[in-house]
Amino acid sequence: MEHPENSEEYKGLTVNAGIEQPSIINPYLKFRKKPKRREFTVGEYVEGILNGNVTILSQAVTLVESLKPEHQALAQEVIEKCLPHSGHSVRIGISGVPGAGKSTSIDAFGLYVLEKGGKLAVLAIDPSSERTKGSILGDKTRMEKLSVHPKAFIRPSPSAGSLGGVARKTRETIILCEAAGFDKIFVETVGVGQSETAVHSMVDFFLLIQLAGTGDELQGIKRGIMEMADGIVINKADGNNIEKAKLAASHFRNALHLFPVPDSGWTPQVLTYSGFYGLGIQEIWDMIDRYFVFVKQNGYFEYRRNEQAKYWMYESINEHLRDSFYNNPTIAAMLVAKEREVLDGQLTSFVAAKKLLDTYYGLLK
Ligand code: GDP
Repeated sequence: MEHPENSEEYKGLTVNAGIEQPSIINPYLKFRKKPKRREFTVGEYVEGILNGNVTILSQAVTLVESLKPEHQALAQEVIEKCLPHSGHSVRIGISGVPGAGKSTSIDAFGLYVLEKGGKLAVLAIDPSSERTKGSILGDKTRMEKLSVHPKAFIRPSPSAGSLGGVARKTRETIILCEAAGFDKIFVETVGVGQSETAVHSMVDFFLLIQLAGTGDELQGIKRGIMEMADGIVINKADGNNIEKAKLAASHFRNALHLFPVPDSGWTPQVLTYSGFYGLGIQEIWDMIDRYFVFVKQNGYFEYRRNEQAKYWMYESINEHLRDSFYNNPTIAAMLVAKEREVLDGQLTSFVAAKKLLDTYYGLLK
């Protein structure tokens, strides 16, 4: 018998119909539509930014960071209109390994410079923030005092994309911030490699935060990074760490003597301070002031900004070409096949590359 439950002998077993199952969605729940953020026109964005409206500035930065082509197009128009109003600021890059005290220091430096007036924007470049969900540089609360300061604008690192892409977005954000009247820009980055180069290519002064450590602190830091620095500051010079910090400073000074004088003609200076206790902050800022006077007099300030503008033109071209190539559906499909052929030894890497490029150029015709 196929269904023993239908047999007479099981008659006693009644199967209740059961109750109707409730809907998994509460029927009384009124769906409130998420209020759609009002979309601004290019003119409204520009006007808002030029008026220093931080809400509109934030939304414009979100557009810059967006991956949607329509947002990108809008962002580019806004940037272009803001460009003539930008440039009037001091741009300072701040780098150091995690734990060096960047956030503590930026909080302290930021409050110090804001006491003198003006407005400060703190931006960040952290290509790893996608992985860490922005926890390294994304957390505004790391800068406790600045984050509630009415004249400060803190924006975490754009999270998506390559270092080049993230850096470009930060550079574009600088333009928007300057147009909104921010006359001091800090760009923070984790001192772990290439991101310093990216920051260096968009700031006027590059400050490297170091710690006094085991005495071999010079070994861990790459020569290239030290060469980029316009100032090296040894943090946590407080309590019983003061002597160690001074010693580290003299090591750095000695090491810097071995490098050729940078293009700016400015000899990088080494200072000790304590971001946490606010010691030596004024000296650091005085050094930065002296630097600006120096490079504005000798013309290096203009030169460096022009070189950076040139660099970003080529970077943008490279980025567009790369995107246009890799995002092309024909190429994307072909890449997989060609990669296989290279791995199987049927094609050399160069021939495969040439075939792909020829196909791409063919598609452009
Ligand atoms: P970041 O990862 O570079 O942003 O570093 P943080 O600013 O978060 O600082 C890392 C740790 O070092 C925190 O526990 C800070 O309280 C501590 N710290 C930062 N600056 C100083 C300082 O000047 N002196 C001392 N003693 N500790 C500091």
